[in-house]
Amino acid sequence: GAELFRPARPNSRGRDLSDRPTLALLEEARAPFRDATWDAAPLLAAGEATGPVRDLHEPATGRRVGTVQEADAATVARAIKATRPWKAPLAERAAILNRAADLFEANEGEVLALLAREAGKTMNDGIGELREAVDFLRYYASQAQGPEGNGRWACVSPWNFPLAIFTGQVAAALVMGNAVLAKPAPQTPLIAFRAVQWLHEAGVPREALQLLPGGAETGAALTSDPRLSGVAFTGSTATAQRIRQAMAQGPAGRPLIAETGGINAMVVDSTALPEQAVRDIITSAFRSAGQRCSALRCLYLQEEVAEPILHMLKGAMAELRPGNPWDLATDLGPVIDAQARDGIQGHIQKARAEGRVIAEIPVPSSGIFVAPTVIKVASIADIEREVFGPVLHVATYKAADLDRVLDSVNATGMGLTFGFHSRIDDRVQRIVERVHAGNLYINRNQIGAVVGSQPFGGEGLSGTGPKAGGPSYLPRFGALVREASNG
Ligand code: GLU
Repeated sequence: GAELFRPARPNSRGRDLSDRPTLALLEEARAPFRDATWDAAPLLAAGEATGPVRDLHEPATGRRVGTVQEADAATVARAIKATRPWKAPLAERAAILNRAADLFEANEGEVLALLAREAGKTMNDGIGELREAVDFLRYYASQAQGPEGNGRWACVSPWNFPLAIFTGQVAAALVMGNAVLAKPAPQTPLIAFRAVQWLHEAGVPREALQLLPGGAETGAALTSDPRLSGVAFTGSTATAQRIRQAMAQGPAGRPLIAETGGINAMVVDSTALPEQAVRDIITSAFRSAGQRCSALRCLYLQEEVAEPILHMLKGAMAELRPGNPWDLATDLGPVIDAQARDGIQGHIQKARAEGRVIAEIPVPSSGIFVAPTVIKVASIADIEREVFGPVLHVATYKAADLDRVLDSVNATGMGLTFGFHSRIDDRVQRIVERVHAGNLYINRNQIGAVVGSQPFGGEGLSGTGPKAGGPSYLPRFGALVREASNG
């Protein structure tokens, strides 16, 4: 049996941003990267990369952050050919991932700068993301055991957690002894490039971990390759379907671990504490500018409390400070790019034309911002799609209709997160039994799952499972499961 490798501590420490000395240290660490630029390119085990070079800009200001050379199809093919599974003993692989975690932390200032500038993350979100990345490395290092994988995995990750989700997928596949071909989102290759450099520096061999920056074309060349053993993907449902189709053309039975979206609801009944509910609604709907797949999209208020809670919600929205995520006073950054903004705006315009916008706050007119907006709906069924931004839909319900509300939430077919605010225990119990959602949150916000204690993942159309950051994730990257699913 393989030896278990215990992490030095279960989760990395948080930072108290209200503590002035802490803040001063963080600012000092970040300062040298205020005007820096980075140049990312494919990181290959052998040979030269070919592919187009693009400029990258800060979504909040339009300033240039760097360039990326993307991997064309020939480069992808070259990388797959040069791939070798990571043969070092499990304990050594785990030790190397722990070393990488230390390197991520040692480079905190650069990480926070990149997350703010390339991905538009506030300091608060940046700190949370670095912690999660480090936790994934240490947690998977501590959990790994045989049977090992010895395969070739593609890891395809999103821009909304360009370090944490990127690192989680890669660390899981690596610690199980596989080789990884990692494709970051086209919007956020710079932080991924640095992460892979730190993983190499920690001791991951280059044949076991290659970086292939690029967009849909790079992704298609990668995921359609019959030499892959499996694909780990987080992103849109549409892309997950494309990957499934691409994989279907190769050998059968190869696993696709897909984490996709959700139209997540929260129900607030008349016994909820209004101040607490409002605080948790704001966090769930608007933190990270709503760009989390866990974010609250549809709030159900019991009709007796709807008016006072909406009133307080508008007041709390007026306190939000949208702006450049580099500024410490900012608690709401931009959305990722113009295409994302236009899609969200289209949804808001339609609601406005129908007279359903009931609250919004102003945002800077330069930069790629979307105003936090509240839209009235009769039911969650009126929301046509996951709108990936700071848009909250609100419906009211009668106490006697609670079960019907839950049924319509289940009827979306998705089931990622669900929130409930109530002080009645058996009602909470009933909800927990009835709602189909991967992550249920009672009397708190519904984002920010914690590695090792709140494994994260959805049901139904929200994902294939297993949950990331939980005990059943790693075995999927091992050999036994692959053989079993082949048969
Ligand atoms: N794990 C994150 C959370 O709990 C969401 C991940 C995602 O958006 O893909 O908020």
